[in-house]
Formats: sequence, structure tokens, C-alpha cells
Amino acid sequence: AKVAGKNCHRFYSRAMDQAVERRVHMEQDLRGAWERGELSLVYQPVFGLSDGKLAGAEALLRWQHPEHGPIAPSVFIDVAEQSGLIETLGPAVLRAACVDAMRWSQEHPGADGLFVSVNVSPRQLRNGDLSEQVAQALAETGLDPSRLHVELTETAVIGDEIRASTLLGRLRSTGVKVWLDDFGTGFSGLSHLRRVPVDGVKIDRSFVADVLRDPDDLALTTAIIAMAHSLGITVVAEGVEKEGQYDILRERGCDLAQGYWLGHPMTTQDFMRLLD
Ligand code: C2E
Ligand code: CA
Ligand code: CA
Ligand code: CA
Repeated sequence: AKVAGKNCHRFYSRAMDQAVERRVHMEQDLRGAWERGELSLVYQPVFGLSDGKLAGAEALLRWQHPEHGPIAPSVFIDVAEQSGLIETLGPAVLRAACVDAMRWSQEHPGADGLFVSVNVSPRQLRNGDLSEQVAQALAETGLDPSRLHVELTETAVIGDEIRASTLLGRLRSTGVKVWLDDFGTGFSGLSHLRRVPVDGVKIDRSFVADVLRDPDDLALTTAIIAMAHSLGITVVAEGVEKEGQYDILRERGCDLAQGYWLGHPMTTQDFMRLLD
């Protein structure tokens, strides 16, 4: 038993070393990846539920590693955050999304009402100059502020509520809209919405996945919609994969929806084809 324990320990620490090593490598590779053109944005269309019309798109980051191929954002965003690389990557993503949204409306006049929503990491908010980064991206690209939405996860605004409210207030004073992402997964819950100033919430796809099967998830989703509306907050459902989910969300008064059933993330060129 002693020998096995020892081996087990040795194996475990070696596995840990490998994980650490992989992370270090990934961090090195990620440095300069934007400049080398390995990173790009894709856009997932978002539709209005009352009229079925295209309302905007969420920008999602992709990394095509020269040797390892596509790397999941859930993996490399984490590395970018931990290493501090997000501090330069974040503003680059904001600017690139604004540039693309400007092109949509320049080439398709009917698209000048479409929004682009950009994911922002908690670290970008906490460092305090997010509103400056946003103001700069808007000034450099000329995008109308009302067309830019910033998505923050609940965890970014949990904890110091007073500070979060100040930062969000400053952000909103630039004219952009602020949405809470993955809503319902954290512990802040609905009461949080009264104290933290946001324009919209995105119902996490784990709830949407079960609205047809699980009465609790349907009840929760319906409650989120009612509560948000009573506070004047817009509701977006993400992860709509089936027509039935779309129908029930529309019936419950949800404002906007996105998901594979409506459209996968696509290049800006493909997105512009939807505008014809
Ligand atoms: P998220 O913000 O919750 O983005 C939605 C994720 O759900 C995306 O995954 C999208 O491709 C996926 N998705 C969309 N529709 C469906 C559907 O119908 N079913 C299912 N199962 N999934 C669907 P993706 O692109 O892999 O991004 C993962 C996460 O990485 C994002 O989650 C976001 O938190 C983060 N992320 C992506 N781009 C950026 C970025 O530019 N900056 C930051 N800070 N985070 C980003
Ligand atoms: Ca998001
Ligand atoms: Ca989400
Ligand atoms: Ca469930």
C-alpha cells in the first residue's frame, strides 16, 4: 500500500507538472497571437421574439493555434485573465467588434439599428478603466454608443456592490448598454438587480435547455422575465436549440433569443449575408 501510495503521489505530481507546463506554453503562445492574426471574432445572431427580426449579434473570440488548431475560449480566456494578457486583448476585441458593426451598417443601411455585444472579463471591470476603453473604442470607430452592449458575468459584479454600481454607472454614462451574462447561475439572484444598474440579463442556457422538461426551470425563467420587466430590464435567452424552446420563451414574454436553432456563431462576412 505504501508503494502504491508513493507511485500514486509521483504520478499525481507529474500530471500536475504537465498541467502547469501546458498552461505556461499556452500563455507564451497567446502572447502576440492577436498581432499574428490567430485570434478572430465570430458573431452569433440575436433575434427579437415579438417580431422574429434580427436585432444584433454577440461577438465571440476564436483562437486558431498554428499547431494545435482551434482552442476553446473557455480555456484560453481563462489563461488570458490569469496572466493579465486580457488587459491588452480586451480593448483590442472591443475595438474590432465596433469596427465590424460599423461595416455592417456602412454596407447595409438597414443594419444601422443592429447592436453588437462584447464579452468583458471581470478583471477588465475591476481594474477600473473599462469605461475609458469603451469610450476610446467608440471614438476611434465612430460607432453609435447605443449599438454597443457590454456583457459581464454575475461574478464580476458580486462582492463590492457599491464599487460595482459606481463602475457600471460610469460605463453606462458612455451610452452603451450593460447586460448581465449567465444570469441565474450565481447566487446573487433577482434581488441583486435592484441594486446593480444593468440594462439587460441573459438567462443562462442551462435553464433554457430544460424549459420544456423541467417545470422548475420554466417557473424560474418565467419569474426572471417578470421580475426583470418590472424593473424595466430587457431579457435575452441564450442556448435556444429547439423550436419548442423558442415558442415557450416568446409566449412568456422574453425579449430576445440566440442559439443554434436560430444561428451558429459565424464570420462577419457570413453575418453580413444575413443583412441582404
Ligand atoms: P458565453 O458568453 O456564455 O457565450 C455563449 C457560448 O454558448 C458560446 O460559446 C456560444 O458559441 C455557445 N452557444 C451559442 N448557442 C448555443 C446553443 O444553442 N447551444 C449550446 N450548447 N451552446 C451555444 P463559446 O464561443 O465557446 O464561448 C465560451 C465562453 O467564452 C463565452 O460564454 C464567454 O464567457 C467566453 N468568451 C468568448 N469570447 C470572449 C471574449 O471576447 N472576451 C471574454 N472576456 N470572454 C469571451
Ligand atoms: Ca456572453
Ligand atoms: Ca452566457
Ligand atoms: Ca433542470
